[in-house]
Amino acid sequence: MDVKEYDYIVVGAGSAGCVLANRLTEDPSISVLLLEAGGRDWHPFIHMPAGLAKLVNIKWLNWGYETEPEPELDSRRLYWPRGKVLGGSSSINAMCYARGHRADYDHWADLGNHGWSYADVLPFFVKAENQERGASDYHGSDGPLNVQDLLHHNPLSDVFLQAAQECGYTANDDFNGPTQRGFGYYQVTQKGGARWSTAAGYLNPARPRPNLTIATKALTHRVLLEGQQAVGVEFFKGRYLQTARARCEVLLSAGAINSPQLLMLSGIGPGQVLSRCGVRVNHELPGVGRNLQDHLDICTLYRSKTDITYDRTNDLAVGLKYMLFHRGVGTSNIAESGGFVVSDLAEDDRPDLQFHFVPAMLDDHGRNRLAGAGFTLHCCALRPDSRGSIEIVSQDPKKYPAIQANYLSAPQDMDLMIEGIRLSRKILGAKAFDEYRADEIFPGADVTSRSDLEAFVRRKAETIYHPVGTCKMGSDDMAVVDSELKVHGIEGLRVIDASVMPTLVSGNTNAPTVMIAERASALIRNIAGYRTSQERTDAAA
Ligand SMILES: Cc1cc2nc3c(=O)[nH]c(=O)nc-3n(C[C@H](O)[C@H](O)[C@H](O)COP(=O)(O)OP(=O)(O)OC[C@H]3O[C@@H](n4cnc5c(N)ncnc54)[C@H](O)[C@@H]3O)c2cc1C
Repeated sequence: MDVKEYDYIVVGAGSAGCVLANRLTEDPSISVLLLEAGGRDWHPFIHMPAGLAKLVNIKWLNWGYETEPEPELDSRRLYWPRGKVLGGSSSINAMCYARGHRADYDHWADLGNHGWSYADVLPFFVKAENQERGASDYHGSDGPLNVQDLLHHNPLSDVFLQAAQECGYTANDDFNGPTQRGFGYYQVTQKGGARWSTAAGYLNPARPRPNLTIATKALTHRVLLEGQQAVGVEFFKGRYLQTARARCEVLLSAGAINSPQLLMLSGIGPGQVLSRCGVRVNHELPGVGRNLQDHLDICTLYRSKTDITYDRTNDLAVGLKYMLFHRGVGTSNIAESGGFVVSDLAEDDRPDLQFHFVPAMLDDHGRNRLAGAGFTLHCCALRPDSRGSIEIVSQDPKKYPAIQANYLSAPQDMDLMIEGIRLSRKILGAKAFDEYRADEIFPGADVTSRSDLEAFVRRKAETIYHPVGTCKMGSDDMAVVDSELKVHGIEGLRVIDASVMPTLVSGNTNAPTVMIAERASALIRNIAGYRTSQERTDAAA
């Protein structure tokens, strides 16, 4: 079989991979092969925002991972959806546009990651963005990632924001501006009321370029190495195992679970884990798959006195209105409003809790439909100390790796979850909710003691879908990539996705991942004008 050659091979067409495919092929002299394990993003529930409630059950769009039994969560296996389709998780996510706190990135730089301070990354958030409210110091208005205000929201979301104000929290209409803290509506990655995944924003415009080849349903098995040089990949497409060669570099953008899996399958990782699975160790790199961090989330849920919520909406009417006019409930991302709070337990002035208000009863990722009508307040701890791991369990690329999130293994993380429930009850207990609030379903009115609240967290806490850190950027012994995202000790191989974050950001992770890929594209293409803040200062001096 003839082996095709490209300048760059990008593995994974998710939030990061679609950005790379677009930005690299802007230069007609660069050829790119983009490999995606999932299929095309034609399903209507991807594009109609409210369809996200259904996506969770569509198995072929979703890897549908489960963690190993979590020791601190009653040994439960937690459900981890991840997108397996063009656009990756940006095709199934909740579309909230949040960048985190400026100090998150300054912390990355303090850890020795040159070029990743807030001043360094802000130009890439701006470059990526098409902010429909217009450009400003914080926002861009000609990037591929469309960001807009929601076209529809439930009246109960207004009630929630009023309740937050009654509790003394300030209103904030831009979590990505000068101040992150406060409560308001999330802006969303949508255009004209339709989901704006990175497939929509970045990949579709690049499709006609002759220098871009996209292969869907192409599961990459491993990176091919010659000595310590990455030279291509082996992937399975159709009924065949195929090989493609990279003249310049292989770029792994398979996400926080699959990028470390692919490194390990390629013999790059912790020797013990590889040897146990019969994989030859090509390069011992102990940090691969370690440093897993995620936002653990707990829901406080009340039954509603009225039918104002989304629980009893007529799906057919919603779908029809959306199809005809791109308006109405179909355009809602359901998690319409929320906020960022600096709790009494915070170590600095960064918010340590994030809230998402859902005007519907949401249990177990929407997989458990509760009877009646109600509303749900999600609260997640933003910078947990607990660390987990991803490990391959077999040399078979189709076998899912073992995910051990180790939630709450750092005992102080539990304190913040309990503080989150206290604040959730306070907000949902405010006067504004008086005419809507009926019984408390979760945690339940009689769950008040510390031990009962802890038991509730162990029984009910779930992921809010932000795993990162498993190929962390840095220069210490456990770092996997350097500050240019090149894999330590291997030539011609970078990891570019959420897995490179050394620490979790204080918010949702799609926009930060897009930013990482924007900055990586500029690094790869050596684009002048996108210099680090230090380089700009030096140049100005
Ligand atoms: C249900 C859900 C809700 C979320 N809500 C929000 C939100 O509201 N706002 C927000 O900012 N973030 C949200 N997130 C998180 C955010 O979407 C992710 O952090 C982000 O998409 C991660 O981007 P990535 O490029 O690292 O990985 P992904 O986008 O997951 O992309 C990885 C891609 O690689 C492909 N792939 C994996 N392995 C292979 C292989 N071996 N061969 C070929 N292809 C492969 C996958 O199929 C996938 O397409 C949510 C996530 C989920 C799952």
